[in-house]
Amino acid sequence: MTLSRGCILCHQGAKLVLFVTGRCHRTCWYCPLSSERKGTDTVYANDRPVDIPSQIIEEAENMSALGTGVTGGEPLLCLDKVTAYCRLLKEHFGPEHQIHLYTGKAPTDEELAAMQGLVDEIRLHPPQECWEKIAETDYIISAQHAKAMGFDIGIEVPALPGLEHLAAALPYLDFLNINELEWGDTNAYAMRERGYELADNLHNAIEGAKGWAEELCRHEKVHWCSSAFKDSVQLRERLKRIAENTARPFDEITEDGTIVYGVLEFGEDGDASAEILKRELEPGSFEVFSDRIELPWWILTESSTDVKGNKYVIERYPNGGMIVELTPV
Ligand code: SF4
Repeated sequence: MTLSRGCILCHQGAKLVLFVTGRCHRTCWYCPLSSERKGTDTVYANDRPVDIPSQIIEEAENMSALGTGVTGGEPLLCLDKVTAYCRLLKEHFGPEHQIHLYTGKAPTDEELAAMQGLVDEIRLHPPQECWEKIAETDYIISAQHAKAMGFDIGIEVPALPGLEHLAAALPYLDFLNINELEWGDTNAYAMRERGYELADNLHNAIEGAKGWAEELCRHEKVHWCSSAFKDSVQLRERLKRIAENTARPFDEITEDGTIVYGVLEFGEDGDASAEILKRELEPGSFEVFSDRIELPWWILTESSTDVKGNKYVIERYPNGGMIVELTPV
């Protein structure tokens, strides 16, 4: 099996996901974009909205990124933005910072030339309607030109019926990635209309999607990327890298890359307990905010009967990310 360099880094959770636009010229029925992102021009580095380009570097530093995946919407609708961000990343981290770009277009020679030296790997996403005659499409012409210009070139598509036709494209490609088709809020209606169902209650994978890919997956250039893999390995490894760089000395880093700490809110009961804790705890083993003190979760739970006030243990994604669980103590 041939894994692209972008995929190897993705397996290590070492790729920054740079979402450059929610606009797209296509209207794929299975489009997984959330309604929050669809059609907007907000840029996200991983899940963080970006106001100024230096925040992209900050986020990449936070996770010790070894590469970046540029995605959207359709990134080529804002090619200037793409080239500016890729230049920034390559200048900051060096030319070895590997960058791959997804596109639903067949890039023109001008578009390819603008990305030379900035993007290393291009992943084409041809629409399902043209898979049957893929060898006759502009995607193959683009793939040939991109290869001649020094890009690594591949196709990346969701698992849908008709995948086997893409075998005709393989001689022109370095790799072909198939993503397990995923159920989402914005495509649920279209999924139901087609009679598709969730394979289980744990992931967003669709029943039968693997079967559509079976024949193509026998080829060594083809790689199957499962929904479970994306949810577990890829995300977990990325969270761990971020946690290792950003966790405070008293945050516990879990096996899933989340962090856990205790919180005592100020207020009538909490004030006195917080004062005692501040005196008893080692400097650096707690942090005080205007409305609360944050401290090791085990100290809070061990002394829970003595500590008065509103208190709880938080598990969340690192660096101020999403709260996974909040447990009152
Ligand atoms: S090309 Fe991608 S972003 Fe555009 S509509 Fe299709 S799935 Fe959505």
